[in-house]
This record gives sequence, C-alpha cells and structure tokens, in this order.
Amino acid sequence: MQPDIEIYDTTLRDGTQGHGITFSVADKLRIAERLDAFGVHFVEGGWPGSNPRDIEFFAQAKHRTFTRARLAAFGSTRRKEIRADADDQVKLLIDAATPVVTIFGKTSLLHVREVLQTTADENLAMIADTVRFLKSHGRVVVYDAEHCFDGFAEDRAYALATLRAAESAGADLVVLCDTNGGSLPSDIAAITRLAHSELRSRVGIHTHDDIGLGVANALAAIEAGATHVQGTINGYGERTGNCNLTAVIPNVHFKLKKSCVPPDSLRSLTELSQFVDETANLRPNPRLPWVGAAAFSHKGGTHVNAVQKVVSSYEHIDPASVGNTRHVLVSDLAGRSNIVMKAQELGIDLSAETPQLRSMLQQIKELEHRGYEFEAADGSLTLLLRRGMAAIPRPFTVDAYHVSMRSDGKTSVCEATVKVSVGGGTAHTVADGDGPVNALDAALRAALVTFYPQLQDVRLTDYKVRIVDSRSGTAAITRVLIESTDGVSEWGTIGVHENIVEASLEALVDSLEYALANPNRSAVR
Ligand SMILES: [Zn+2]
Repeated sequence: MQPDIEIYDTTLRDGTQGHGITFSVADKLRIAERLDAFGVHFVEGGWPGSNPRDIEFFAQAKHRTFTRARLAAFGSTRRKEIRADADDQVKLLIDAATPVVTIFGKTSLLHVREVLQTTADENLAMIADTVRFLKSHGRVVVYDAEHCFDGFAEDRAYALATLRAAESAGADLVVLCDTNGGSLPSDIAAITRLAHSELRSRVGIHTHDDIGLGVANALAAIEAGATHVQGTINGYGERTGNCNLTAVIPNVHFKLKKSCVPPDSLRSLTELSQFVDETANLRPNPRLPWVGAAAFSHKGGTHVNAVQKVVSSYEHIDPASVGNTRHVLVSDLAGRSNIVMKAQELGIDLSAETPQLRSMLQQIKELEHRGYEFEAADGSLTLLLRRGMAAIPRPFTVDAYHVSMRSDGKTSVCEATVKVSVGGGTAHTVADGDGPVNALDAALRAALVTFYPQLQDVRLTDYKVRIVDSRSGTAAITRVLIESTDGVSEWGTIGVHENIVEASLEALVDSLEYALANPNRSAVR
C-alpha cells in the first residue's frame, strides 16, 4: 500500500559527504540491509560515476534481496553537447542495475550560465534527454532539482521550465532540493505549493541543515503537498548535515499523523540510529531529538517528581514509542525521586520507603559538593547505591602503588608497580605505559587477571580530565571520567582528588569493580 509519505534515504551517498564519515563496501551493504528491514522506501547506494567503491557496492548489491526498499543509483544529467547514451557517467547508472535512478540537474540560470557554461535551452535538453534515456531502460526516475529554491527566487519561469522538462520526459518524481540549506520554511512551503499545483507528477523534498531548519523545511514542504522526503540517518551530510530522518520519520508519524514507514518500525528507530553511528565509528550525539540519550533525560528535582507522577508532564511523547528510554540524571539538584527512578533504571531494588535512601541522598550531595558528577558515571553510581543498600565485600583492594617516569631526553616511559589483595592472596605487578595513568591501568589489570580472567576483555574507551574549582573553596581538584567496555556494554566511572593519579586510580578501580559486579550483561545489538 502506498504510504502518505515516502522515505528516501541518502545516508550512503549524501551522508558520506559528512565530516569524518567513511563507509567500506561491507558497511554500506550492512546499512542498506538494515534500512530495508526498517522499512524506508528507497535506499540511495551511491554515485557510480564518482568513485570505484560505489561501483563495487552496486555490483555486490545485485546479489542481495531487498524486500521493502528499492535501491537507487545517483548521478547527474548528461554533459552538455553530447548524447545521453554516449555519456559514460550516465551509462554507469544503467550498469548499476538498480530499479531506481536518481539524477540531479540545474534549476538556477546562474548555475547554468556560470557553472555549466551553457545555454538555458541546452540545460533543458540535458534534463529531458537523460530522463528519457533512463526511462527507455525501464528505470523509475527520480529527478532532483538542484538549487531549486534559489533558482525559483532568481527566475521563477525558468525554474519551472526545468521541472517541466523532467516531467514531460517521463520522470516519476520531481524533488525540490534546498542544496545550500539556507531557505526558510515559509519560502519552502510557497514554492512546494506552486510546484505541486503546476506539475502532474509527485513532488519530493531534499533539504540541508545549514541554518538549523533541515527538518522544519522538510515538514513545511510535506504540509504544502510533497509526498516524498529525502534525508540521512542522524542527519549525516556535508557542512552541518542533511535533513535528519531520525527526526523526520517520527514527526511525520506522530505529529503530522501521516503514514510513512511501517508503524512497528518506529520502536526500533533509536536502535537504527545507534547502529548507523556504530558502523560509522562515531559517538552517538546525546542531544539528537527523539533518539539521543538525553532526549528523555530529567535532571531538575521538581521535573523528576512530576514525571514520576504523570509521565506526560515533561515529555512530549512516550520514549518507548521510538525505542528510547527515560533517563534520570542524578545531580545536586537531586531529590529522592531522582535517586529512586535512577536506581530502577540501573536495576537496583530501591523505593521511596527504603530506609537507607536518606543517607544515600546525603552522601551523593556531599560527593557532588566535593566535585563528583554522576551523570556520566553510571558505573560508579551503581556501586555507590549497592554499597549503600548492603555491606558488599570489595572484590579487591589496592594496598600500595608507585609510579615513576624515566626519560633519555628523547622518549619517556612511565612505570607503575601495584600491590593488590584478593581474598587471602596478593599480587605484585609492574608495567610500562605512555603516561602514569596508562602504566597504572596496565599494572592493575595484570595483577587482577590472574584472579579474575574475565577482566581480560575490559578496556578503556575514553579518558577525560577536568580541573574543577573545589566548591568548598580550597585548592583546585581534578575530576577524571573513564569510559570502559567489555565489548558488549559500556559504563562510566569517576574519581576526584587533588592529585590526578589518585583520581585516575579511583576511577580505574570503580571500572574494574563494576565489571566484576555485572558479569551477566546482555547484548546491546
Ligand atoms: Zn544534498
């Protein structure tokens, strides 16, 4: 059944123009399959005319089955003054053997004259010839009108003539592109409405986020008659990025109340967003609307109290509807409600009636006053709450350590020795490292793996140091935040001290203790 709004994903083509984004052919195939399973309608795989990797992608994609999405190859109209069937770049689009081909052409006379250095009529012929050629090969043809909104502002009659050239040659869809991303929703709506009324073919929208309006512009176009929207997962793309599909999709579904992807898929939106970030080897942006880790986080004590009573009081929608979760941040604004909700989120059995609650809250406030911050240190907070509930024996203690540095004037090496006790046994190890913390980490781990082989898989993924003014008004102190992983899950721990090595050791000890206390971590994928 035809949905109200078609979703066209260009993560694998426009998305890869983004800062720091590269995908191997295998990555692209995995993402394409994931997008297909999610239920987007089109997956644009790349531009075969621009690089060999994209040609290889299409060669391999031929042997895969896509059940929901149709694969599209992207390219440009023919070059000036040659036949479409003689243009290598156009021929590669046919070789890609996709059911859909998307080509872009010029809408703006300025670009026609200055960039293409050709005539207004030749540009119209380039559009029409290319569309006709692709149609004669049985392709569904999507025509992307580049710089469309700037073109309309410049010369409305000519801009419209370019869209008509594509339509009369048989284009199945005409997509209005805000290539520079600088348009306002009111202009997007007016021009989309005009194109929608002047053309017989369906109209689509392709926007960029240069002024922070990529999603707003796509929604404005949809309300003005567009039935097809192009964008990327997590808003990847050149400069500030493309229109973010992880925001467009739920907005179309929940806010505009129009059908797009299968309703069941909405609950895996957050997972899709994380999967694509993981494949791109990027840290997820916590502030992404709908799918970010902070999208449903509550910090202020009164908010948390209200959310606990009526979930809709500070949330525009149930986080589970897009597969996200509610987070409660524990901070010195924390009330009892924060602690109780946070404990539940961390899987600790704690209620407002728990007698130890008062002293735990007191302890957290005291620690935060000294410079601790538990928002990015769930691991340390979990240990703190568990210790507050019952006296738990520590799996190990660090009895002594020593760190030294030697240098021959060119290179320097740090050496750490650590003495730990585990039950009745002790271990004494020494290790080198790039710096004192690295050496300490290596020595501590080497000492403990003899007792706890499972620590072999644990490693540090991030280490952050910040000097904070002590709130008690004495000397400055150092706050160390460590992110660790066992390859399956991630956790954060914290240490605070005047001395950076002491602060680091505290965070390292918490990290390893957390790993030992949580052996049954479930897979995140
Ligand atoms: Zn674009």
